[in-house]
Amino acid sequence: MNRTLVTGGAGFVGSFLCERLLEDGHTVLCLDNLQTGSVSNIAHLMAHPRFKFCVMDVELPLSSIDQVDQIFNLACPASPVHYQTDPIRTMRTNVLGAINVLELARRTGARILQASTSEVYGDPVLHPQTECYRGNVNPFGPRACYDEGKRAAESLFFDYHRMHDVDIRIARIFNTYGPRMAREDGRVVSNFVLQALQGQPITIYGDGQQTRSFCFVTDLVDGLVRLMNSDAHMVQPCNLGNPGEFTILELAEMVVEMCRTKSGIVFEPLPVDDPTRRQPDITLAKRELNWAPRVALREGLAQTFAYFSDAEAMAAE
Ligand code: NAD
Ligand code: UDP
Repeated sequence: MNRTLVTGGAGFVGSFLCERLLEDGHTVLCLDNLQTGSVSNIAHLMAHPRFKFCVMDVELPLSSIDQVDQIFNLACPASPVHYQTDPIRTMRTNVLGAINVLELARRTGARILQASTSEVYGDPVLHPQTECYRGNVNPFGPRACYDEGKRAAESLFFDYHRMHDVDIRIARIFNTYGPRMAREDGRVVSNFVLQALQGQPITIYGDGQQTRSFCFVTDLVDGLVRLMNSDAHMVQPCNLGNPGEFTILELAEMVVEMCRTKSGIVFEPLPVDDPTRRQPDITLAKRELNWAPRVALREGLAQTFAYFSDAEAMAAE
């Protein structure tokens, strides 16, 4: 079985990925600087004999790691609130982090998968987004540290592949949600679910007509594992997301209805450069990875509600 490194492994997606890799029989080294992740996300894995956790930053060379067969590079804050707090740090994580994990892959011969993003498409003109679409990104707006950082990381992955024959995979991940999102994460699903549970107003930014396509976390993790295990012809970016497209107003209404909350809806200003539409074309992943999401939004939201109501109860104790 493989020795697998997961950077950003104490984060929301990373913790589910570590869990899945252990189930599949891998030895897992989880590396995280705990900027947005938490040890509580991986507390249940700490005693596992094939699991090891290290507090490390991908901005620094990973020279202490010597044996690894696979690398999943997830290290980077994903919520706009967090990646915009220190945009220079976000860019450093994306660019220096990519160089450091790629150098490790080059030295060890490990296959390496980059957690890229639908944000490489910016505010897309093509809808739904296919992998060949080159995007519409504002290179100097407040989202650029993330969007351009992830685009630079994709460039570096392909440069290491062409120059040094590093075996790369690129997952372009669309909005993913589920249990273990941080309470203060700031992304739309965790905000709405928490607001509904607390009876607070649901905060819609803009008029709520912008769309997103929401993928449940275990579906995404299955896609990441399939992409990592795919043949060399998958050395090309691959969209992973749920094609079900919802307006943010529809999401708010679904959350209110499911929670039977007294929360009303309030409209707040739309953040700068907030993309208007987003929906993945997953033809490639379906055909080449035999992958498609299985968890419907309502079902995934029910699991997210269950998680956050437990977390609320614990916080109240
Ligand atoms: P998250 O913020 O919960 O997790 C990111 C993890 O990376 C955290 O544990 C954080 O502490 C760690 N980290 C950040 N900078 C680091 C550094 N310099 N060195 C080491 N660790 C560092 O976010 P997430 O939703 O779990 O996202 C995981 C990855 O997937 C990210 O790379 C993100 O860009 C990508 N992605 C996520 C989504 C989504 O909707 N969840 C969508 C597109 C892409
Ligand atoms: N959003 C919202 N209310 C919130 C948080 C987010 O209306 O409390 C909107 C946000 O403006 C965007 C969408 O929901 O249009 C998705 O935002 P998120 O931060 O989850 O992810 P993004 O796709 O923007 O990176």
